[in-house]
Amino acid sequence: MSVLSWIEFEATEKRKGTVKLKGGYNVLLQGRPESTVRLMPEPSVLYLPLRSKRFAFSELSVKEGEYVNAGDILARDPDNFGVPLLAPRGGKVRLEKVPGHIVIEDAAKVQEHADMAEEELLHLEQEMGAGGIKRYKLVTLGAWEFFYDAYTGAVPDPLGTPQAIIVSIASLEPFVARGDAQLRNRLLNFTRGLEQLQSLLEYQPIYLVMPDVESEFVNLLRNHIRGYAWVKIVEIPLRYPHDHVAILARRLGLKRSNGPIWAVRTEGVLATDRALTLTKPCLIRIVSIGGIGVNSPAHLNVMPGYPIKMIKERYVFEPAARLINGGILTGEPLGAEALGLDTECRGLTVLPELEDREFLGFIRPGWDRSCYAGCFLSSLRVKFHERFTTGMRGEGRPCISCSFCEDVCPAGIMPHLIHKYLYRDLIEEVDMARVDLCVECGLCSFVCPSKIDLRQQFIDAKALIEQEKQELRKEQERQEKEREEQAATKSVEEKDA
Ligand code: SF4
Ligand code: SF4
Repeated sequence: MSVLSWIEFEATEKRKGTVKLKGGYNVLLQGRPESTVRLMPEPSVLYLPLRSKRFAFSELSVKEGEYVNAGDILARDPDNFGVPLLAPRGGKVRLEKVPGHIVIEDAAKVQEHADMAEEELLHLEQEMGAGGIKRYKLVTLGAWEFFYDAYTGAVPDPLGTPQAIIVSIASLEPFVARGDAQLRNRLLNFTRGLEQLQSLLEYQPIYLVMPDVESEFVNLLRNHIRGYAWVKIVEIPLRYPHDHVAILARRLGLKRSNGPIWAVRTEGVLATDRALTLTKPCLIRIVSIGGIGVNSPAHLNVMPGYPIKMIKERYVFEPAARLINGGILTGEPLGAEALGLDTECRGLTVLPELEDREFLGFIRPGWDRSCYAGCFLSSLRVKFHERFTTGMRGEGRPCISCSFCEDVCPAGIMPHLIHKYLYRDLIEEVDMARVDLCVECGLCSFVCPSKIDLRQQFIDAKALIEQEKQELRKEQERQEKEREEQAATKSVEEKDA
């Protein structure tokens, strides 16, 4: 090692930060996708859902029967800074063929282009300089949809200034796309993307979150970012959900009141590079397909709108399988009406749909399942990866106050207590028990021996509390306005008198 690289190595070691993290659990399940990325056949039809977790593309930019090129804007989300839905391939647009989707027929892979208006670029350059153009490109070329507000998970304001950016290559929830698969042969694009992110900032730091493991890939990445003094490395243990950006932001001491914190995963950094270095639209996704209902779990090179049927035919062997959009703990079941991958899809989880009881299961109770409580026969086995299905094994029961949910909760709250308050409709107590700190990781539901769906209860409770607070604010504003009006009338009457 040369003297210069040794100095850089020392600097990298010094920049490594550790954060104190609570709870978490190493979820070991069968069906983990390999890190190799497989190409899927080109589809002749694409089904682009108009809704995804955060987006609703309600403002259409195309007409029925129109021909579009790859990269053209099909629709925008007016409530999320006009983030566009891009055409991943050229073809004929059909708006009424499938409800809730834009269909592209005769889809063809032709040279994609950037759908950007020259006059708007000129105007932005005059108004906001180079920084404004960069942000415009990020939105128009489809990279902004990979950006999150670390605390709320919402789409951040592209014209805002963050107090920090958290970049995470760690992806610990089974079975969403992993950073190592997405970065395969693209480390150069990643480091260029980091430089582009840094060019959006003045002095604010970028935290790069990676697993604290010694693997060839992680060491390679560490070598690539040695010279980047503005990147602070944060190493985390391989325990889900220690990669959660809201938890990390809290533990890094980044207070919400000091301004927004942007969060981006690997795919967001690569999209930033594509948009800002190459001025090209982000049309391809690397998504995973995992779970025990899959032939050979892998990562797939696809695009939004890719027909789910084509993926099922190649990878799903179970005749009755539940498809989940996303990871096993936080994903949402895909209904029969979903025909194509949505623009935010990071992976598909496939589980066999089991309703029957296991034959003679009582003879060796829990031998085939890893149990947080260590109360099944499985505790006699060395650590193993469980075959996880949709079967509940008759486990819906009341809370037994075992506190496992509290042990694993990364937010440091007491899920069992909040559950009991909710059971008794004590909403004020639920609020005081800080349900707002819940990051919806689903680990409490996963370890709960009574199989209580705590996560969903807390999502509903947070929405209810927010709604009540909003109503209260509105009522206070109404009363304030009424008081002001009464005071104004009184003063006019006094003047007249
Ligand atoms: S879902 Fe919420 S309450 Fe449950 S473990 Fe995760 S953060 Fe804690
Ligand atoms: S893990 Fe389930 S049963 Fe145990 S305390 Fe929490 S809610 Fe109750």
